[in-house]
Amino acid sequence: MAALLRSRHAFRPPEMTVDHLVVGAGVVGLAIAERLTKAFVDRTTFVVERRGAFGEETSSRNSEVIHSGIYYPANSLKTSLCIRGRDLLYKRCSAAGIAHRKTGKLILANSSGQVQYLEGLKQKASKIEQLGVGRVPLEWLSGDEVREREPDVSKGVVGALLSPETGIVSSHELMEDLEKSILDSELGELVYGTKVVRIDRVEGKSGGKRGDGTEDGWVVQTLTDDGKGGEGERSAVLAKTLINAAGLNAHHIANQILPASDRIQLHFAKGSYFSYRGPGISSVRHLLYPCPDPSSLAGLGTHLTMNLDNEIRFGPDVEWLKPPVDEKGEDLMDFWEQHLAVNEERRLLAIEEVRKFLPNVVEDGFQPDYVGIRPKISAKGAPAVDFSIAHPLPGFINLTGIESPGLTSSLAIAEMVEAMIRQHVGLGRGRGKVISEAGSLDAWA
Ligand SMILES: Cc1cc2nc3c(=O)[nH]c(=O)nc-3n(C[C@H](O)[C@H](O)[C@H](O)COP(=O)(O)OP(=O)(O)OC[C@H]3O[C@@H](n4cnc5c(N)ncnc54)[C@H](O)[C@@H]3O)c2cc1C
Repeated sequence: MAALLRSRHAFRPPEMTVDHLVVGAGVVGLAIAERLTKAFVDRTTFVVERRGAFGEETSSRNSEVIHSGIYYPANSLKTSLCIRGRDLLYKRCSAAGIAHRKTGKLILANSSGQVQYLEGLKQKASKIEQLGVGRVPLEWLSGDEVREREPDVSKGVVGALLSPETGIVSSHELMEDLEKSILDSELGELVYGTKVVRIDRVEGKSGGKRGDGTEDGWVVQTLTDDGKGGEGERSAVLAKTLINAAGLNAHHIANQILPASDRIQLHFAKGSYFSYRGPGISSVRHLLYPCPDPSSLAGLGTHLTMNLDNEIRFGPDVEWLKPPVDEKGEDLMDFWEQHLAVNEERRLLAIEEVRKFLPNVVEDGFQPDYVGIRPKISAKGAPAVDFSIAHPLPGFINLTGIESPGLTSSLAIAEMVEAMIRQHVGLGRGRGKVISEAGSLDAWA
């Protein structure tokens, strides 16, 4: 795919230089760009987004849950960035008037095995606190205490953990706020309808330091939509620091410049949501999660979430996708766009799952809603893997596998990228230090 892109798009010398170029205006790219405009007020920060507006891919196809940070290993980036991101997000939502609500969440146990799982989660929360990573308050409730709060919950539920720090947020309003902040900044710019199609490394003249006018960096070729389905306008820009936040497409961006031995293959797991209207949920106030199925390392189980208008939805389930591949075995770019319809066959499975904790829901109440696709570093059946936020080459920060809890973590990821730029990236010589790489984590609990 990388070679194909290069052969299709000839090299053109850059017409301008920017300090930071972020590929992708999902919530993570926007959060990073906003942070950089504030942290480096004298440097230019551009975001290049292929769609006509922000957040048209995974950032608008998720559960919009502000996670507490409990599911991942204590020493993982997912835990530390989720907890820090959660706190930053609540603060920002309150300060900027972004719609959100701390609903709290109940993780429900149906068996003694699941009670054990929840005890493990509680111990992990203590460990996370002892290690100084952050606070994840959790409260144990008996089955009866659960039903006092949530009378619709099944009598088969024998206990639950209440996570009071869990909530919901309007991801659209969050992204709108980030966009506004970038556009209001002195040297920040957002370019929509423009696709990054080719990247080449250029070495600066010897003797110079980064930021003093030498031309070290990445020549990024872009193609801008002409709005009529035609070829559009080609441009080239020199980016001193390139930040890849291209989500489901991040491996195609990275593989253009990584050495062959470091190339990345993402895997894709589809999650379908069903909206629900009907009996069996009339008094629900908390988000309701089953215990994750230990045989599935891909998701947290079909759970109940609500939006800020109190509309209930169930999902996402987990359905691994098998991408068509090219002659080199790489997945065809954007194949997942063919999978954005809810698979009707999954409806009965979802109902079966939901009835384990809400027995009175009725089949007719479930309607296909929307689909989100998880960009996963590990393949089906392999152990779950941490976020990968690395700078494998000078002046190149690469974010891959930013699946859940990426929305919650976005503002903390932005802080981390700022720190990476301050500490390492600006040196621009030699191979960049890898801050965090994908590695095996223990299971969910
Ligand atoms: C089913 C599901 C449920 C989830 N639920 C939650 C949740 O409840 N809470 C939570 O915290 N997280 C959740 N997440 C995770 C969260 O949604 C993601 O981590 C987050 O949205 C990732 O944002 P992003 O900016 O990295 O990627 P994206 O939103 O995918 O943005 C990437 C952007 O890059 C652009 N792009 C790609 N290629 C190019 C190119 N060549 N040139 C220019 N632009 C390009 C794309 O158009 C896109 O806009 C969920 C994810 C899924 C799939």
